[in-house]
Amino acid sequence: MSYSGKTKDLYLSLLSDIRNGGIFKEERFIHSSQAADIEVEFPSGSDLKKVINMCSNNYLGLSSHPEVIRAAHEGLEARGYGMSSVRFICGTQDIHRELENRVTEFLGTEDTILFPSCMDANAGIFEAILTSEDIMISDRLVHASIIDGMRLCSAQHDTFKHSNMEHLEEKLLLHENKRIKLVITDGVFSMDGDTARLDEMVRLCDKYDALLLVDDSHASGFIGKTGRGTHEYCNVVGKIDIITTTFGKALGGASGGCVSGRKEIVEMCRQKARPYLFSNTIAPVIVSGVLKVFDILSASTERRDKLEKNASFWRAGLKDAGFILKEGNTPIVPVMLFNAKLSQDFSRDLYNEGIYAIGFFFPVVPNGQARIRTQISAGHEMHHLQTALDKFVKVGKKHGILGLTKEQIIEKYGQ
Ligand SMILES: *Cc1c(COP(=O)(O)O)cnc(C)c1O
Repeated sequence: MSYSGKTKDLYLSLLSDIRNGGIFKEERFIHSSQAADIEVEFPSGSDLKKVINMCSNNYLGLSSHPEVIRAAHEGLEARGYGMSSVRFICGTQDIHRELENRVTEFLGTEDTILFPSCMDANAGIFEAILTSEDIMISDRLVHASIIDGMRLCSAQHDTFKHSNMEHLEEKLLLHENKRIKLVITDGVFSMDGDTARLDEMVRLCDKYDALLLVDDSHASGFIGKTGRGTHEYCNVVGKIDIITTTFGKALGGASGGCVSGRKEIVEMCRQKARPYLFSNTIAPVIVSGVLKVFDILSASTERRDKLEKNASFWRAGLKDAGFILKEGNTPIVPVMLFNAKLSQDFSRDLYNEGIYAIGFFFPVVPNGQARIRTQISAGHEMHHLQTALDKFVKVGKKHGILGLTKEQIIEKYGQ
């Protein structure tokens, strides 16, 4: 084998295409733990800068919670650092099963199986339960990990327009004769912060004898009045056949994921899901931390209530200041700028003002839909939000976009 000059040149040219296309992702080094206040080295090699973090998935502020850290330490001491095994050989501790039961109880499902990540849960679920006789019908905006999971599955595939129930019904009719029909959606859509219409989806799935899978990674722990997730928000607890979710966001933010739902489906995953069978078990230290997260969430809804308050303050503040937002009812608040370069300039100016929020543009979001995606946390105090709001307004004024309509922003900056 040789890494020839020709191959190296090929990769260099592909990388420079990415750079020239303006979509090269530069990582920013954080020198502190995850929190509302972080210390960032950016660009690489520059002095550390204290900034307010407005773009983490640390929705409940539990990523560095002292009780979670203590529980993780205790788990580390009691059960060791690693298990050096997959679950079915010698990688299952009692605490793995305990966590599965806690998730089941919290989500209101029948059973749960842990995966190394939600990406792995989504990579494993479809092929474990479907064959070429079956059909997967997915919302057009589902997460990349679901798309990859569907690619690994031999079942047929179709899509429906984003959150469009008429279109979903057409597709259910079209595929009425398939053996298993599995409808697939995110609970909360990460780029827009909107919520799936699960009540209507449950009704349609009942009517056409279809299964429903919801990826609730951006909802578990805080959406719904006790934070169970989008199914609680939509009043359909117990009616979702399959929920996949992550422990890498609100639920402590370390890593790990799961499939939770119908007992037989969970058992099929235990027998057949390849990322479960062939990837290492979740480390005891993480299991212990996540168990503590569920203790905290079960004891009180204080954190999700604070998050809800923070998010409405933030949404209202930006709106009153004259920004255009994507409508929604979640802590994901996208500030629409439409133009890719403007989103990058805006993000840089915010950073210089001590606010960390990333600009997204094509292909992460549709062409002409560039934005700054802000994410609110229960770890934010009012002073964080007020400062961030003031800085957003300052940068908004600098670019002359406050109070403008979408058309006016596009006229000014192009799309
Ligand atoms: C973040 C995310 C995932 C991936 O979760 P990991 O546990 O980090 O792999 C999967 N699905 C959705 C909808 C997500 O937002």
